[in-house]
Amino acid sequence: MGPGMRSTKIVATIGPASRDPEVLEQMIKAGMDMARLNFAHGDPAEHAETARLIRAAAERAGREVAILGDIPGPKLRIGPVGGDGVAELGRGTNVVLTSDSVDGSSARLPVAWRGFAELVDEGDVLYLADGAVRLRVSEVTGPDVVTHVEVGGSVASRQGLNLPNVTVSLPAVSDEDIALVDAGIDMGLDYFALSFVRRREDLEPVHEHLRSRGSDIPLIAKVEKPQAAANGEEIVDAADGIMIARGDLGIELPIEEVPLVQKRLLALAGRAAKPTITATQMLESMVHSTRPTRAEVADVANAIFDGTDAVMLSQETAVGRHPVLAVSMMASIATATERELPYGRWLAERGPQANNQYHAIAFGAVGGVYQLGLKGIVAPTNTGTTVRLISAYRPRAPVLALSPSRDVVRRCQLLWGVTAVLHEEPMETLDLIEACARAAVHHGLASVGDRIGITAGLPAGRSGGTNLFKVHTVE
Ligand code: ATP
Ligand code: MG
Repeated sequence: MGPGMRSTKIVATIGPASRDPEVLEQMIKAGMDMARLNFAHGDPAEHAETARLIRAAAERAGREVAILGDIPGPKLRIGPVGGDGVAELGRGTNVVLTSDSVDGSSARLPVAWRGFAELVDEGDVLYLADGAVRLRVSEVTGPDVVTHVEVGGSVASRQGLNLPNVTVSLPAVSDEDIALVDAGIDMGLDYFALSFVRRREDLEPVHEHLRSRGSDIPLIAKVEKPQAAANGEEIVDAADGIMIARGDLGIELPIEEVPLVQKRLLALAGRAAKPTITATQMLESMVHSTRPTRAEVADVANAIFDGTDAVMLSQETAVGRHPVLAVSMMASIATATERELPYGRWLAERGPQANNQYHAIAFGAVGGVYQLGLKGIVAPTNTGTTVRLISAYRPRAPVLALSPSRDVVRRCQLLWGVTAVLHEEPMETLDLIEACARAAVHHGLASVGDRIGITAGLPAGRSGGTNLFKVHTVE
C-alpha cells in the first residue's frame, strides 16, 4: 500500500488456463483482487476444488482474494461438442439445432432446453459465439431446428445461444441455479452474480434462498439484457452491486448502444454506492497475444473514467495463453489512468445523500482528503457499509478497512480504493483511534507526522454503527 497503490479492482475468470496453483499465485501477485468462477462451465466439484486452490494461493501470496460464483440464470446454451469440444460451422452449410441429446458436431448441435423448437420460427436469426456466428432458421421439424449458416465460425461446448427477436420465457432462476447457490455457499464464496436479470423480482428467488440458509453473501446483478438496462434503477436498488456484462448485451441490444448503457448504469450504481464490475473482451486480443490493442487499453481506461470499481478478464484468463500477463497489464493500465480521474466531480455528483448518518460521515472523510490533504482513511468496520460509502465518494488517497470478520475483509476487496485487512484484536479492548493510527503506519498508509482520517463507532464494541470521523495526526 502507499501512494503508488492501485485503486481500481481486478476480477479474473478462472478456467483451464489458470486453475494451476502456481498460475493462481502469480495472478494474485500481479493484482487479481477477485476470482470469478463461471458456474455455466465445469461442475460444482471442480469449482469447489478451484476455490480451495485460490484460497491456498492467496495464503501463499499473503493477500485476501474474494471469490465470485457466477450463476448462469436463464441462458440458452448449446450442449457439449464432441471431439476437442469445438465445431467449425462453414458459411452456406446447414446445421441442425436439436433438443435431442447428441454429441455436438458441425452438422448437429444439442440445445439444453426441451422446448427449444417451439420457441423459433422459420426466418428467425440465432447467434452463437457471442454474436460472431449467425444462423437463420429454415425449417422446424419436431425437436429439430434446421438452420442455414449465414456467418460462419467456430463454436465451443456450452456456448450461449442468443435469440434476440424471440422473447424467451425461461424462469429467471431455475432449480439448477438454486443448487449452484447451495454449492457456492458450501464453498465459502464471497459474492454471487446472477446472469440475465431483467427486473428486480428476478433477484428475489436467490435472495430468499440465501436468507433461508442464513447467508448474507452479497448478490451482484449482471446487466446483459435490454430490459435490465431499462430497469437500471430498481435493479441497482435491489442488488448489492452490478456487472456490466457487455458480451450478451452487445448481441441483445444494437452493439453501438453498449457504451452508453455502460456509462449510464455505472453512474446510477455509483450514486447508490453499489460496487460495479465492467466485463467482457476488455483485453480480448491477449487470449493469444502478449500485448493488447490500443483500443483495448483505451476501453479499460475509459471504464475506469466511467467510474467502475472493477474491471474484469474473461477468456483472457479462463482459456487464454497469458493469464498472468493479462492481469499485470490491467494493473498497469489502472495505475496509469488513476493519475488523472475526475475525483472531485464524483464526490460532488454522488453526495452527500440526505439525512443519512453513514453517508454524512463518509462524505466528510472523503472531503477531508481533498480539503486537508489527508494521507488516507482508516475505517474499522463490522459490516463493510461505511467503507462502501467512503469508496463510492472516490477519495484520492488509500482507504484501509479493518475488520474482525474475514468474510467482510474479502468482500471489501471489490471496493474501489479499499485495502482490507483482518484485525483480530478485539477493538473494544483498545484505544480505537490509536489502534487505527498504528494500523495506518503498519500498512504503509502514513508515517509519523502525517494527517489521516479515521471513522469509527464509539463506544467501540457496541453495535450502532459508525458515528465519528476524526482528523488525526499520526504520532
Ligand atoms: P457467459 O456466457 O456466462 O458470459 P462465457 O461462456 O462467455 O460466459 P467466460 O466466463 O467469459 O464464459 O469464460 C470464457 C470461456 O472460458 C468460456 O467460454 C469457456 O470456454 C471457458 N471457461 C470458463 N470457465 C471454465 C471452466 N470452469 N471450465 C472450462 N472452461 C471454462
Ligand atoms: Mg461471455
